[in-house]
Amino acid sequence: MELEKYSIGVGDRFGMEGKAQVRALQEAETMGVRVVPVWNKSNREHSIIRTNPQDARKEAEEAVQRCGWKHSYYVDADHIGLATVDRFLESSDFFTIDVADYIGKPSPPESIAAFMKAMEQFKGTFNIPGISAPIVVTAKLLESLAQKYLGAIGEAGKVYRHIAEKKRSDAFVPEVSVDESNAPQTPGELLFILAAISREGIPIQTIAPKFSGSFLKGIDYVGEKEQFAKEFEDDLAVIAFAVRTFGLPRNLKLSVHSGSDKFSLYPLMHQAIHKFDAGLHLKTAGTTWLEEVIGLAASGGDGLALVKELYGRALTRYDEMCKPYLSVIEIDKSKLPSSEQVARWSSREYVEALQHNQLSPGYNVNFRQLVHVSFRIAAEMGERYLGLLRDYRTVIESNVTLNIFQRHVLPLFVGKENLSRPRRNTAAAGASV
Ligand SMILES: [Zn+2]
Repeated sequence: MELEKYSIGVGDRFGMEGKAQVRALQEAETMGVRVVPVWNKSNREHSIIRTNPQDARKEAEEAVQRCGWKHSYYVDADHIGLATVDRFLESSDFFTIDVADYIGKPSPPESIAAFMKAMEQFKGTFNIPGISAPIVVTAKLLESLAQKYLGAIGEAGKVYRHIAEKKRSDAFVPEVSVDESNAPQTPGELLFILAAISREGIPIQTIAPKFSGSFLKGIDYVGEKEQFAKEFEDDLAVIAFAVRTFGLPRNLKLSVHSGSDKFSLYPLMHQAIHKFDAGLHLKTAGTTWLEEVIGLAASGGDGLALVKELYGRALTRYDEMCKPYLSVIEIDKSKLPSSEQVARWSSREYVEALQHNQLSPGYNVNFRQLVHVSFRIAAEMGERYLGLLRDYRTVIESNVTLNIFQRHVLPLFVGKENLSRPRRNTAAAGASV
Protein backbone atom coordinates (compact mmCIF):
# COMPACT_ATOMS: atom_id res chain seq x y z
CA MET A 1 0.00 0.00 0.00
CA GLU A 2 1.73 3.08 -1.27
CA LEU A 3 0.33 6.45 -0.33
CA GLU A 4 -0.02 8.79 -3.30
CA LYS A 5 2.00 11.94 -3.77
CA TYR A 6 -0.71 14.29 -2.51
CA SER A 7 -3.13 13.41 0.24
CA ILE A 8 -5.37 15.32 2.59
CA GLY A 9 -6.45 14.27 6.02
CA VAL A 10 -10.04 15.26 6.47
CA GLY A 11 -11.68 14.85 9.80
CA ASP A 12 -15.40 14.35 9.89
CA ARG A 13 -16.54 14.46 13.48
CA PHE A 14 -20.11 13.27 12.95
CA GLY A 15 -19.44 11.08 9.95
CA MET A 16 -21.97 12.65 7.62
CA GLU A 17 -19.85 14.74 5.27
CA GLY A 18 -17.72 12.13 3.54
CA LYS A 19 -19.43 12.55 0.19
CA ALA A 20 -19.15 16.34 0.27
CA GLN A 21 -15.47 15.96 1.12
CA VAL A 22 -14.85 13.57 -1.76
CA ARG A 23 -16.62 15.96 -4.12
CA ALA A 24 -14.02 18.62 -3.27
CA LEU A 25 -11.28 16.23 -4.37
CA GLN A 26 -13.20 15.37 -7.52
CA GLU A 27 -13.25 19.07 -8.32
CA ALA A 28 -9.48 19.15 -7.91
CA GLU A 29 -9.23 16.21 -10.26
CA THR A 30 -11.05 18.11 -12.96
CA MET A 31 -8.20 20.61 -12.67
CA GLY A 32 -5.67 17.87 -13.20
CA VAL A 33 -4.54 17.42 -9.60
CA ARG A 34 -5.18 14.20 -7.73
CA VAL A 35 -5.36 14.45 -3.97
CA VAL A 36 -6.51 11.33 -2.14
CA PRO A 37 -8.61 11.47 1.02
CA VAL A 38 -7.51 10.16 4.39
CA TRP A 39 -10.24 10.20 7.02
CA ASN A 40 -8.53 10.89 10.28
CA LYS A 41 -10.14 10.51 13.67
CA SER A 42 -8.39 10.19 16.98
CA ASN A 43 -9.29 8.01 19.91
CA ARG A 44 -10.40 11.10 21.85
CA GLU A 45 -12.77 12.19 19.09
CA HIS A 46 -14.26 8.72 18.92
CA SER A 47 -14.83 8.67 22.67
CA ILE A 48 -16.38 12.14 22.78
CA ILE A 49 -18.73 11.47 19.88
CA ARG A 50 -19.22 7.84 20.88
CA THR A 51 -18.32 6.46 17.50
CA ASN A 52 -16.07 3.54 16.61
CA PRO A 53 -13.28 3.32 14.08
CA GLN A 54 -15.60 0.95 12.18
CA ASP A 55 -18.03 3.83 11.70
CA ALA A 56 -15.30 5.91 10.05
CA ARG A 57 -14.47 3.03 7.71
CA LYS A 58 -18.10 2.54 6.81
CA GLU A 59 -18.57 6.21 6.06
CA ALA A 60 -15.44 6.33 3.91
CA GLU A 61 -16.51 3.29 1.91
CA GLU A 62 -19.96 4.66 1.37
CA ALA A 63 -18.67 8.09 0.35
CA VAL A 64 -16.24 6.80 -2.25
CA GLN A 65 -18.81 4.42 -3.62
CA ARG A 66 -21.60 6.96 -3.85
CA CYS A 67 -19.31 9.54 -5.45
CA GLY A 68 -17.69 7.10 -7.82
CA TRP A 69 -14.22 7.92 -6.51
CA LYS A 70 -11.95 5.59 -8.43
CA HIS A 71 -8.71 6.15 -6.55
CA SER A 72 -7.31 5.21 -3.20
CA TYR A 73 -8.63 6.39 0.13
CA TYR A 74 -7.53 5.71 3.68
CA VAL A 75 -8.84 5.64 7.22
CA ASP A 76 -6.34 7.04 9.70
CA ALA A 77 -5.93 5.94 13.30
CA ASP A 78 -4.89 9.40 14.33
CA HIS A 79 -2.26 9.93 17.01
CA ILE A 80 -2.34 6.42 18.38
CA GLY A 81 0.08 4.63 20.65
CA LEU A 82 0.24 1.12 22.14
CA ALA A 83 -2.49 1.96 24.63
CA THR A 84 -5.02 3.07 22.02
CA VAL A 85 -4.19 1.30 18.77
CA ASP A 86 -6.10 -1.96 19.20
CA ARG A 87 -9.60 -0.71 18.50
CA PHE A 88 -8.32 0.71 15.17
CA LEU A 89 -6.56 -2.39 13.92
CA GLU A 90 -9.39 -3.81 11.93
CA SER A 91 -10.75 -0.71 10.26
CA SER A 92 -7.74 1.55 9.74
CA ASP A 93 -5.16 1.30 7.02
CA PHE A 94 -3.23 4.41 7.96
CA PHE A 95 -1.66 4.73 11.40
CA THR A 96 -0.32 7.99 12.80
CA ILE A 97 2.04 6.65 15.43
CA ASP A 98 2.49 9.44 17.96
CA VAL A 99 5.59 9.13 20.09
CA ALA A 100 5.99 12.74 21.22
CA ASP A 101 5.43 11.67 24.84
CA TYR A 102 8.49 9.44 24.64
CA ILE A 103 10.88 12.12 23.49
CA GLY A 104 13.62 12.45 26.07
CA LYS A 105 12.71 9.18 27.82
CA PRO A 106 15.83 7.13 28.55
CA SER A 107 16.81 4.27 26.26
CA PRO A 108 19.23 1.44 27.04
CA PRO A 109 22.93 2.41 26.86
CA GLU A 110 23.60 -0.42 24.41
CA SER A 111 21.11 0.91 21.87
CA ILE A 112 22.60 4.38 22.21
CA ALA A 113 26.06 2.92 21.62
CA ALA A 114 24.87 0.89 18.62
CA PHE A 115 23.19 3.94 17.08
CA MET A 116 26.28 6.07 17.54
CA LYS A 117 28.45 3.41 15.95
CA ALA A 118 26.13 3.14 12.95
CA MET A 119 26.10 6.93 12.52
CA GLU A 120 29.86 7.22 12.85
CA GLN A 121 30.15 7.78 9.08
CA PHE A 122 28.26 11.08 9.36
CA LYS A 123 30.67 12.63 11.83
CA GLY A 124 32.22 15.81 10.55
CA THR A 125 30.65 18.21 8.09
CA PHE A 126 28.49 17.33 5.13
CA ASN A 127 26.00 18.97 2.83
CA ILE A 128 22.46 18.00 2.07
CA PRO A 129 21.44 19.13 -1.42
CA GLY A 130 18.91 21.91 -1.07
CA ILE A 131 20.10 23.10 2.33
CA SER A 132 22.50 26.01 2.30
CA ALA A 133 24.15 25.52 5.69
CA PRO A 134 26.29 22.39 6.08
CA ILE A 135 25.28 19.84 8.71
CA VAL A 136 27.92 19.60 11.40
CA VAL A 137 27.88 16.34 13.31
CA THR A 138 29.92 15.73 16.43
CA ALA A 139 29.95 12.74 18.76
CA LYS A 140 28.37 14.95 21.38
CA LEU A 141 25.50 15.91 19.06
CA LEU A 142 24.91 12.30 18.07
CA GLU A 143 24.79 11.27 21.69
CA SER A 144 22.38 13.99 22.68
CA LEU A 145 20.13 13.16 19.71
CA ALA A 146 20.23 9.49 20.64
CA GLN A 147 19.29 10.29 24.20
CA LYS A 148 16.50 12.56 23.14
CA TYR A 149 14.91 10.52 20.35
CA LEU A 150 15.93 6.84 20.48
CA GLY A 151 13.43 6.00 23.19
CA ALA A 152 10.65 7.58 21.16
CA ILE A 153 11.62 5.85 17.93
CA GLY A 154 11.98 2.56 19.79
CA GLU A 155 8.41 3.04 20.97
CA ALA A 156 7.29 3.77 17.39
CA GLY A 157 8.95 0.49 16.40
CA LYS A 158 6.94 -1.38 19.05
CA VAL A 159 3.69 0.17 17.85
CA TYR A 160 4.55 -0.53 14.22
CA ARG A 161 5.38 -4.19 14.90
CA HIS A 162 2.22 -4.55 16.97
CA ILE A 163 0.17 -3.36 13.99
CA ALA A 164 2.18 -5.45 11.54
CA GLU A 165 1.48 -8.58 13.60
CA LYS A 166 -2.24 -8.08 13.10
CA LYS A 167 -2.23 -6.73 9.56
CA ARG A 168 -0.03 -7.56 6.62
CA SER A 169 2.91 -5.19 6.85
CA ASP A 170 2.21 -3.93 3.33
CA ALA A 171 -1.48 -3.41 4.05
CA PHE A 172 -1.20 -0.11 5.86
CA VAL A 173 0.53 3.24 5.73
CA PRO A 174 2.68 4.03 8.76
CA GLU A 175 3.27 7.63 9.79
CA VAL A 176 5.44 8.70 12.70
CA SER A 177 4.50 11.99 14.31
CA VAL A 178 6.67 14.12 16.54
CA ASP A 179 4.67 17.27 15.92
CA GLU A 180 3.41 17.43 19.47
CA SER A 181 6.90 17.75 20.93
CA ASN A 182 7.88 20.97 22.64
CA ALA A 183 10.41 22.31 20.12
CA PRO A 184 10.78 22.14 16.33
CA GLN A 185 13.35 19.66 15.03
CA THR A 186 16.42 20.98 13.26
CA PRO A 187 17.33 19.45 9.86
CA GLY A 188 20.04 17.41 11.63
CA GLU A 189 17.57 16.13 14.20
CA LEU A 190 15.07 15.15 11.52
CA LEU A 191 17.81 13.35 9.59
CA PHE A 192 18.83 11.23 12.56
CA ILE A 193 15.23 10.60 13.57
CA LEU A 194 14.74 9.16 10.07
CA ALA A 195 17.95 7.16 10.45
CA ALA A 196 16.65 5.69 13.70
CA ILE A 197 13.27 4.95 12.10
CA SER A 198 15.03 3.10 9.31
CA ARG A 199 17.07 1.10 11.84
CA GLU A 200 13.83 0.17 13.61
CA GLY A 201 12.61 -1.27 10.33
CA ILE A 202 9.56 0.98 10.08
CA PRO A 203 8.66 1.47 6.39
CA ILE A 204 7.50 4.97 7.17
CA GLN A 205 5.61 6.79 4.41
CA THR A 206 4.91 10.07 6.15
CA ILE A 207 6.66 11.94 8.93
CA ALA A 208 5.13 14.80 10.89
CA PRO A 209 7.78 17.03 12.39
CA LYS A 210 7.13 20.05 14.51
CA PHE A 211 7.56 23.47 12.91
CA SER A 212 8.08 26.74 14.67
CA GLY A 213 5.12 29.03 15.14
CA SER A 214 1.66 28.11 16.38
CA PHE A 215 -0.63 25.71 14.54
CA LEU A 216 -3.81 26.55 16.38
CA LYS A 217 -7.10 24.79 15.79
CA GLY A 218 -9.09 26.05 12.85
CA ILE A 219 -7.37 29.40 12.42
CA ASP A 220 -4.46 30.76 10.42
CA TYR A 221 -0.78 30.33 11.24
CA VAL A 222 0.67 32.48 13.99
CA GLY A 223 4.40 32.96 13.58
CA GLU A 224 7.19 33.96 11.22
CA LYS A 225 6.22 32.83 7.74
CA GLU A 226 9.77 33.13 6.36
CA GLN A 227 11.08 30.94 9.17
CA PHE A 228 8.38 28.39 8.47
CA ALA A 229 9.18 28.39 4.73
CA LYS A 230 12.84 27.75 5.47
CA GLU A 231 12.12 24.92 7.90
CA PHE A 232 9.64 23.40 5.48
CA GLU A 233 12.11 23.43 2.58
CA ASP A 234 14.89 22.10 4.79
CA ASP A 235 12.65 19.24 5.86
CA LEU A 236 11.85 18.40 2.23
CA ALA A 237 15.57 18.32 1.47
CA VAL A 238 16.30 16.11 4.49
CA ILE A 239 13.56 13.67 3.52
CA ALA A 240 14.87 13.31 -0.04
CA PHE A 241 18.37 12.76 1.33
CA ALA A 242 17.21 10.28 3.98
CA VAL A 243 15.30 8.22 1.41
CA ARG A 244 18.48 7.79 -0.63
CA THR A 245 20.79 7.35 2.31
CA PHE A 246 18.81 5.09 4.63
CA GLY A 247 16.76 3.15 2.09
CA LEU A 248 13.42 4.45 3.36
CA PRO A 249 10.33 4.10 1.13
CA ARG A 250 10.70 6.27 -1.96
CA ASN A 251 7.29 7.86 -1.43
CA LEU A 252 8.19 9.07 2.07
CA LYS A 253 6.80 12.56 2.44
CA LEU A 254 6.14 15.31 4.88
CA SER A 255 2.92 15.30 6.84
CA VAL A 256 1.81 18.68 8.06
CA HIS A 257 -0.55 18.48 11.00
CA SER A 258 -1.97 21.83 10.23
CA GLY A 259 -4.67 22.20 12.84
CA SER A 260 -6.51 23.40 9.72
CA ASP A 261 -6.73 26.65 7.85
CA LYS A 262 -3.08 27.67 7.57
CA PHE A 263 -4.07 29.83 4.62
CA SER A 264 -1.05 32.13 4.77
CA LEU A 265 1.30 29.12 4.52
CA TYR A 266 -0.36 27.37 1.61
CA PRO A 267 1.31 29.41 -1.17
CA LEU A 268 4.72 28.88 0.47
CA MET A 269 4.14 25.16 0.82
CA HIS A 270 2.88 24.94 -2.75
CA GLN A 271 6.02 26.61 -4.07
CA ALA A 272 8.27 24.39 -2.00
CA ILE A 273 6.72 21.07 -2.98
CA HIS A 274 7.07 22.08 -6.61
CA LYS A 275 10.64 23.20 -6.18
CA PHE A 276 11.55 19.82 -4.65
CA ASP A 277 9.05 17.79 -6.67
CA ALA A 278 7.92 16.47 -3.32
CA GLY A 279 4.68 14.96 -2.12
CA LEU A 280 2.69 16.21 0.83
CA HIS A 281 0.13 15.02 3.33
CA LEU A 282 -1.92 17.79 4.85
CA LYS A 283 -3.87 16.92 7.93
CA THR A 284 -6.74 19.20 8.82
CA ALA A 285 -8.49 19.40 12.15
CA GLY A 286 -12.03 18.42 11.44
CA THR A 287 -13.16 21.94 10.60
CA THR A 288 -15.74 20.22 8.42
CA TRP A 289 -17.83 20.20 11.59
CA LEU A 290 -17.67 24.01 11.63
CA GLU A 291 -19.10 23.97 8.11
CA GLU A 292 -22.04 22.06 9.58
CA VAL A 293 -22.52 24.78 12.18
CA ILE A 294 -22.20 27.45 9.47
CA GLY A 295 -24.74 25.64 7.32
CA LEU A 296 -27.21 25.41 10.20
CA ALA A 297 -26.70 29.09 11.04
CA ALA A 298 -27.18 30.05 7.40
CA SER A 299 -30.37 28.03 7.20
CA GLY A 300 -32.06 30.17 9.87
CA GLY A 301 -35.05 28.89 11.84
CA ASP A 302 -34.39 25.86 14.03
CA GLY A 303 -30.88 25.50 12.57
CA LEU A 304 -29.88 28.96 13.72
CA ALA A 305 -31.62 28.48 17.06
CA LEU A 306 -29.68 25.29 17.70
CA VAL A 307 -26.26 26.76 16.96
CA LYS A 308 -27.04 29.78 19.14
CA GLU A 309 -27.91 27.42 21.98
CA LEU A 310 -24.75 25.45 21.27
CA TYR A 311 -22.64 28.57 21.69
CA GLY A 312 -24.42 29.56 24.89
CA ARG A 313 -23.72 26.15 26.39
CA ALA A 314 -20.10 26.26 25.20
CA LEU A 315 -19.65 29.58 26.95
CA THR A 316 -21.11 28.26 30.20
CA ARG A 317 -18.81 25.24 30.04
CA TYR A 318 -15.84 27.19 28.69
CA ASP A 319 -13.11 25.57 30.83
CA GLU A 320 -14.37 22.06 30.20
CA MET A 321 -14.51 22.62 26.42
CA CYS A 322 -11.06 24.19 26.20
CA LYS A 323 -9.19 21.95 28.62
CA PRO A 324 -8.14 19.18 26.20
CA TYR A 325 -7.01 21.78 23.66
CA LEU A 326 -5.16 24.37 25.73
CA SER A 327 -1.92 23.96 23.79
CA VAL A 328 -3.61 24.43 20.41
CA ILE A 329 -6.02 27.29 20.99
CA GLU A 330 -5.56 30.93 21.93
CA ILE A 331 -8.83 32.48 22.89
CA ASP A 332 -9.12 36.03 24.16
CA LYS A 333 -12.11 35.59 26.43
CA SER A 334 -12.75 39.32 26.53
CA LYS A 335 -13.47 39.23 22.79
CA LEU A 336 -16.07 36.50 22.96
CA PRO A 337 -19.62 37.72 22.44
CA SER A 338 -22.05 37.02 25.27
CA SER A 339 -24.76 34.43 24.69
CA GLU A 340 -27.34 37.25 24.89
CA GLN A 341 -25.58 39.05 22.04
CA VAL A 342 -25.41 35.90 19.96
CA ALA A 343 -29.06 35.18 20.68
CA ARG A 344 -29.88 38.40 18.83
CA TRP A 345 -27.69 37.61 15.82
CA SER A 346 -29.12 37.10 12.35
CA SER A 347 -28.03 34.15 10.24
CA ARG A 348 -25.63 36.41 8.49
CA GLU A 349 -24.02 37.71 11.69
CA TYR A 350 -23.50 34.21 13.03
CA VAL A 351 -22.02 32.97 9.76
CA GLU A 352 -19.74 35.99 9.45
CA ALA A 353 -18.41 35.55 12.97
CA LEU A 354 -17.68 31.87 12.46
CA GLN A 355 -16.59 31.57 8.86
CA HIS A 356 -12.85 31.83 8.35
CA ASN A 357 -12.83 34.84 6.09
CA GLN A 358 -10.17 37.19 7.39
CA LEU A 359 -11.40 40.00 5.20
CA SER A 360 -14.82 39.95 6.75
CA PRO A 361 -15.24 42.57 9.48
CA GLY A 362 -17.53 40.24 11.42
CA TYR A 363 -15.04 37.36 11.61
CA ASN A 364 -14.20 36.54 15.24
CA VAL A 365 -11.19 34.28 15.68
CA ASN A 366 -12.03 33.70 19.35
CA PHE A 367 -15.60 32.72 18.63
CA ARG A 368 -14.42 30.34 15.90
CA GLN A 369 -11.97 28.58 18.18
CA LEU A 370 -14.46 28.14 20.99
CA VAL A 371 -17.11 26.70 18.70
CA HIS A 372 -14.49 24.45 17.12
CA VAL A 373 -13.55 22.77 20.39
CA SER A 374 -17.16 22.50 21.56
CA PHE A 375 -18.27 19.63 19.33
CA ARG A 376 -18.92 17.64 22.50
CA ILE A 377 -22.06 19.73 22.99
CA ALA A 378 -23.35 18.87 19.53
CA ALA A 379 -22.58 15.23 20.32
CA GLU A 380 -24.64 15.51 23.51
CA MET A 381 -27.54 17.00 21.56
CA GLY A 382 -27.51 13.72 19.65
CA GLU A 383 -30.45 13.20 17.35
CA ARG A 384 -31.54 16.83 17.62
CA TYR A 385 -28.26 17.89 16.04
CA LEU A 386 -28.02 15.01 13.57
CA GLY A 387 -31.62 15.47 12.48
CA LEU A 388 -30.98 19.09 11.55
CA LEU A 389 -27.85 18.05 9.69
CA ARG A 390 -30.12 15.87 7.57
CA ASP A 391 -32.77 18.57 7.18
CA TYR A 392 -30.25 21.12 5.89
CA ARG A 393 -28.15 18.72 3.85
CA THR A 394 -27.91 20.78 0.68
CA VAL A 395 -26.52 23.96 2.17
CA ILE A 396 -24.21 22.06 4.55
CA GLU A 397 -22.77 19.84 1.85
CA SER A 398 -22.11 22.74 -0.46
CA ASN A 399 -20.29 24.52 2.38
CA VAL A 400 -18.18 21.45 3.14
CA THR A 401 -17.18 20.95 -0.49
CA LEU A 402 -16.50 24.61 -1.07
CA ASN A 403 -14.43 24.93 2.09
CA ILE A 404 -12.14 22.00 1.33
CA PHE A 405 -11.80 22.74 -2.36
CA GLN A 406 -11.46 26.51 -2.40
CA ARG A 407 -9.77 27.23 0.88
CA HIS A 408 -7.42 24.24 1.13
CA VAL A 409 -6.97 22.15 -1.99
CA LEU A 410 -6.91 24.98 -4.49
CA PRO A 411 -4.19 27.13 -2.92
CA LEU A 412 -2.10 24.27 -1.57
CA PHE A 413 -2.22 21.54 -4.19
CA VAL A 414 -3.44 23.26 -7.33
CA GLY A 415 -1.56 26.51 -6.67
CA LYS A 416 -4.47 28.78 -7.42
CA GLU A 417 -5.69 31.60 -5.31
CA ASN A 418 -8.39 30.83 -2.80
CA LEU A 419 -11.31 32.21 -4.77
CA SER A 420 -13.55 32.60 -1.77
CA ARG A 421 -11.24 34.86 0.18
CA PRO A 422 -12.07 38.32 -1.10
CA ARG A 423 -15.78 37.66 -1.26
CA ARG A 424 -18.47 38.25 1.23
CA ASN A 425 -19.67 34.94 2.55
CA THR A 426 -22.13 33.28 0.28
CA ALA A 427 -23.62 30.79 2.68
CA ALA A 428 -25.59 33.39 4.62
CA ALA A 429 -27.15 34.58 1.43
CA GLY A 430 -28.13 31.01 0.66
CA ALA A 431 -26.18 31.07 -2.58
CA SER A 432 -23.59 28.58 -3.67
CA VAL A 433 -20.54 29.27 -5.74
ZN1 LIG B 1 -0.58 16.00 15.06
